[in-house]
Amino acid sequence: MKKLYETHDRIAVIRMESPPVNSLAHSLRIVVFEALDAALQDGEIDAVVLCGAGQHFCGGAAIDEFNLPVRAEPSLKTIIDCMEASPKPILAAIHGSALGGGLELALGCHYRVATPGAQLGLPEITLGLLPGGGGTQRLPRLVGVEAALKMILSGERLDGASAARIGLVDDVLSGAEDAGNEVACPAVTWLQSRLAAPLPAPLSKKAAWPDLADGGSEFFEQAAAKTDKMKGNQRAARSCVACVRASTEMDFDQGLAFERSRFLELVTSSESVSLRHLFFAERKAARVPGVPADLRPEAIAEAAVVGAGLMGSGIAMCFANAGIPVCLLELNEEALNRGMQRIEKTYADSVAKGRLAQAAMDHRMGLITPTHRYEDLASVDLVVEAVFEEMQVKQQVFSQLDAVCKPEAILATNTSRLDIDEIASVTQRPGRIIGMHFFSPANVMRLLEVVRARCTSDQTLTTVMRVGRLLHKLPVSVGVCDGFVGNRMVATYFREAGFLLEEGASPSQVDKALLDFGMAMGPFAMSDMVGLDISWAGRKRMAATRPKHLRYSKVADVLCESGRLGQKTGAGYFRYEPGSRKPQPDPEVDQIIVRCAAEAGIARRTIPDQEIVERMIYALVNEGAKILEDGVASRASDIDLIYVNGYGFPASRGGPMFFAQTMGLMEVSQRIRTFHEAHGFFWELSPLLSGADTKPNAQWDDLTNTQGKTAKSESLQ
Ligand code: NAD
Repeated sequence: MKKLYETHDRIAVIRMESPPVNSLAHSLRIVVFEALDAALQDGEIDAVVLCGAGQHFCGGAAIDEFNLPVRAEPSLKTIIDCMEASPKPILAAIHGSALGGGLELALGCHYRVATPGAQLGLPEITLGLLPGGGGTQRLPRLVGVEAALKMILSGERLDGASAARIGLVDDVLSGAEDAGNEVACPAVTWLQSRLAAPLPAPLSKKAAWPDLADGGSEFFEQAAAKTDKMKGNQRAARSCVACVRASTEMDFDQGLAFERSRFLELVTSSESVSLRHLFFAERKAARVPGVPADLRPEAIAEAAVVGAGLMGSGIAMCFANAGIPVCLLELNEEALNRGMQRIEKTYADSVAKGRLAQAAMDHRMGLITPTHRYEDLASVDLVVEAVFEEMQVKQQVFSQLDAVCKPEAILATNTSRLDIDEIASVTQRPGRIIGMHFFSPANVMRLLEVVRARCTSDQTLTTVMRVGRLLHKLPVSVGVCDGFVGNRMVATYFREAGFLLEEGASPSQVDKALLDFGMAMGPFAMSDMVGLDISWAGRKRMAATRPKHLRYSKVADVLCESGRLGQKTGAGYFRYEPGSRKPQPDPEVDQIIVRCAAEAGIARRTIPDQEIVERMIYALVNEGAKILEDGVASRASDIDLIYVNGYGFPASRGGPMFFAQTMGLMEVSQRIRTFHEAHGFFWELSPLLSGADTKPNAQWDDLTNTQGKTAKSESLQ
């Protein structure tokens, strides 16, 4: 039988071991509890060190267990109660992550020490939850109400030194990281030096933090008011404030019971269920179905970007931010200078705002080498092309790259919609060609569509998915089609928005309905921000091939023809005061809409907001279902990630596909049929979604049967 703990000079060392992050699943709780119980009864043991095996202390609760109706014993509470009742001192020795339940476990110990690089935090808020293992009651008693509330509401992680500064840990174990994160030995030495000292009272026995004795209610009212501005998870934020307040007004046990009741309310809330869906979706997205799991990504030591325009300069910054040297190639001197200036200005703005140190900016600028010469790209491992969106130009660039780059280099394109196999056809290395579709601004937006062409090899895909993560992006694998996943779907959304205007809605009504639904921006304010000329150019290109029998809204074209190109011309769907970005309704636009509707023979009517939301969102869902059918996306949850991270869909609704599932796929399918009867062709129901007609409570997984399995136990890591 495996030993429950090691012994070092009468000190028991209990290691939590449950790879990859030692999340507190029931199986681990049993082992920890047994080890604690044994160590506390062992007459040869004077004290206990609790630490993590591998890279982390403890990544937190097993999130999949939140759905269970009762807490399986031993619960986290039972373990903490046992530690707090111990007459022998217990030290939490933290390296790697101590998150959520992992940090709450540490708060149940008499002492805490951490390595300098440790990460301590309570990120439950990001899942629409609150720390439900006593964190809202113990943390304020340890570090004070303000610091505790800041940690709990932001979900931010503190390193060892910052944790020591606010009193969250008693000491920083400086030498431990040099010793390969081996914390047990320095932790034992640290604890030995405390054995003669009186046992500190457990946090549950400490009085409430005294600093707010008088000004407390004003502080908490202000904190609660601030939570109203938080998007999506106000409910969790409000509960966090209420619980921390309870820690100052109730005795410990009452406060704990209050925290528990608030936690149970949140765990079943639609916001938290949606956010947890996205949490698991991210983990699933890392595994691409059909790609051998044992393929190892190749190292990318040097990269290059071709084209220093809006996207290229942002992409070059992504590499520099990740510490990867990158060449930025432009043929045009002026464009190259403009690109480098854009990069420098973006970094300088971050330095001015205090978000980036000057030394870090200098280092990053030093990693970007501007060049005009293709030969300078001979040794790079990966190139991302971001030149004009024209097949001929892209093919010319790719044949030049193919000629100069080493044969194993990966050549990626940032195209928004072109056929990547056609681009690859001019090279001798089709297996090494792939799409890396960044979103604007590329240095900020987290989403990366990794576009797998028919020619792309599994090895290339595996490497680029890994590169995406190295660049701190969320890479989601998609297939080739016009617009890939995101832009293909968004086209249906904007099409419906245009039809709604003709039928009787105003730009303000549509935008407000979608903002109320939770979208980050209304579609028309967004169009004005991006500029109406970009999609106008696309429509003009497609005009010759557009089927003339299909409905087409002319509103956008007429706006462009009258010089209304959006914010940049002071007018688009809305008008803008000089220097302001605030959209103002414009009667001139109303007249244009009425005229276009009359010309198209459409009788205008009052359209309820609910219909606006249903038509815009279900258009996305129906197209998403077609994308699943085509195999362009492998999972409904991948589509959700794309929409939440690239298109401003509210995370608290879990993405369009998850939202449809919560509304009932059968009901959504019926609604789409109604729209089909009323509005025709564009609403033809996806055959995949029609499968829900005979399956009440159907899930996308039931319809597609292609879901990757969720890892057995996931934590907040
Ligand atoms: P842009 O016009 O700002 O930049 C293109 C740059 O490429 C220009 O600086 C131009 O001088 C340079 N260039 C053109 N031909 C070249 C060549 N042969 N060799 C080297 N440089 C060359 O365009 P952008 O908005 O950065 O878009 C670039 C690509 O990214 C396009 O394929 C576009 O579809 C895609 N994209 C754009 C966005 C967006 O929001 N703008 C989002 C995702 C993807």
